[in-house]
Amino acid sequence: MRHSRRDFIQTLSAPLLAMPFLAMSEKHQKYEGPILRVAIMGLGNYGTRVAEAMKSCKKAKLVGVISGTPSKIKSWQAKYQIPEKNCYNYQDFDKIRDNPDIDAVYVITPNALHRDQVIRVAKAGKHVICEKPMSVNAADAQQMVDACKRAKVKLLVGYRMHFEPKTLEIIRMRKAGEFGKVLFFQGLSGFQIGDPTQWRLKKELSGGGAMMDIGIYSVNGSRYMIGEDPVWVTAQEVKTNKEKFREGIDETITFQLGFPGGAVASCLSTYTMNNLDRFFLNGEKGYAEMQPSTGYGPILGHTHKGELVYPHVAHQTFQMDEMAGIILEGKEPIVPVDGGEGLKDMKIIDAIYKAVQTGKKESVYL
Ligand code: NAD
Repeated sequence: MRHSRRDFIQTLSAPLLAMPFLAMSEKHQKYEGPILRVAIMGLGNYGTRVAEAMKSCKKAKLVGVISGTPSKIKSWQAKYQIPEKNCYNYQDFDKIRDNPDIDAVYVITPNALHRDQVIRVAKAGKHVICEKPMSVNAADAQQMVDACKRAKVKLLVGYRMHFEPKTLEIIRMRKAGEFGKVLFFQGLSGFQIGDPTQWRLKKELSGGGAMMDIGIYSVNGSRYMIGEDPVWVTAQEVKTNKEKFREGIDETITFQLGFPGGAVASCLSTYTMNNLDRFFLNGEKGYAEMQPSTGYGPILGHTHKGELVYPHVAHQTFQMDEMAGIILEGKEPIVPVDGGEGLKDMKIIDAIYKAVQTGKKESVYL
């Protein structure tokens, strides 16, 4: 039986509506708590998107930049009123340790640079938010987690979907048993990649192909949708264009994950097909379906109970406000976003690449 949109809104759970970022009345109240002062490292496409979304944050503020391009620094200074003393380049950003006006650095550079940059930021005594994938393999991710622990700074990974309201409603329903025993997840993550010369297609900068970039959404999503961590993987690779997708750059990988409770996930990661952004969760009593499921939104989704309805807000606005709460006030997110969570995904990706090579079922130890 399908419920009307109105019924569905009325039946939304109290805990979800009580979440601070969803309470519409709060939007108009003046916020007087602590503000996370953030410097963005890497002023590219995604860095720009984050900066724009942060304009609407109430708990986080863009106050600094780290870039290798002086002209970009100048234009960001003008656009976001960033003082000269909060601008750094890739050579001198260790000096950020002497800057009391910056609390955290958000690393938004090519994947293979994350490890060293995050470790340098940690050594400079600042909290770090690092884009996904947090590194290019689990060994690097472990070093990052260890360095942040040693430096006593927080390390968060830019998993914006962990704060997305429709995603969180499905997670709430699953925890409340509304789907019954969950036995199946399908994750399809892919797009057609353009420019063959970009860093995403260079192993030394990307660490891998579609799996590192977009397949990770299905890896990570399978865990928060099912609510468990996988114990085995199998995987198969298909390459149709060896010129564009060279050695070490995966074009398409299908993979399967097995979970301790008996659920299985069947996923696709690709750089060759468009319109692949779909999650499907099936339980004994119900289901959830999202398409798009991890794009910038609006996310569209429904369950056996009806359509999921929430106003769309830029994901990065929610993310940065919530991350400010985690870093400054010790708030616990509903779905963890710490370095340990990023490390788990890197271990799974390592196992997927291994399974492609061996053709065997590979165990995962998280
Ligand atoms: P981009 O190419 O648009 O930007 C990368 C930036 O890094 C550029 O400003 C570039 O100048 C700088 N850079 C510094 N050193 C570099 C080097 N040696 N080679 C190349 N560039 C260098 O890339 P992007 O799309 O902004 O992606 C950056 C990171 O953000 C990646 O890790 C990516 O996976 C992640 N990302 C996350 C999301 C998300 O939704 N969470 C979306 C897009 C990208």
